Amino acid sequence: MYDAKDVYYDIRIDRTMRNLKDNGFNAAYAHDIREAKDMVLGMIEPGMSVGIGGSVTVRSMGIIEELKSRGNKVFDHWEAGHTPDEVFDIRRAQITSDVFLSSTNAITMSGELINIDGTGNRVASMIFGPKKVIVVAGANKIVETVEDGIKRARNVAAPLNSIRLNKNNSCNHTGICSDCNTRDRICKITTIIERKPDYTDFNIVLVGEDMGY
Ligand code: SF4
Repeated sequence: MYDAKDVYYDIRIDRTMRNLKDNGFNAAYAHDIREAKDMVLGMIEPGMSVGIGGSVTVRSMGIIEELKSRGNKVFDHWEAGHTPDEVFDIRRAQITSDVFLSSTNAITMSGELINIDGTGNRVASMIFGPKKVIVVAGANKIVETVEDGIKRARNVAAPLNSIRLNKNNSCNHTGICSDCNTRDRICKITTIIERKPDYTDFNIVLVGEDMGY
């Protein structure tokens, strides 16, 4: 059946992919989550260590279990059962892993990635350290401008993460960023990746459906 949303997403993905490539990134299209998963698994060799960013998108793919089962060393700080010191070490290990796998808070149609972090291991690993970075983003993450991307990160991704983490922030109740200054504030670092970082093999998989937030 003709689906207007599919067509809309395809148009936006097509333009975003062209501009990402102009900005030096490798960009690929996956029709759905299953295709994205196969594509990502094909980009990661069996012996490679893989850092996993704090990402609902990546967890929704069921890829972490598959990487572990085929023998990849995985650094996942969301894995249950770790002490705070171990979680810290896992975050540090992500920065020097062979591959860093994450999503992004927003991606502009002119080919830039916008992210907001509280700790910084995710954005640091996306910029320098891992030889290869793989970003998987649903079409719901595509915005027009950098300003729109920051708005999305602050008014969609951050409130949802604040709720997920049960933080005591106003956005948990309003769904809107008030630029709070609480101890629980999760928005501490904002990055805009405008072009492919010099030393990183940077791959972006855009998926033709909604993924994560
Ligand atoms: S700055 Fe504060 S209010 Fe705004 S999104 Fe982040 S945690 Fe929520």
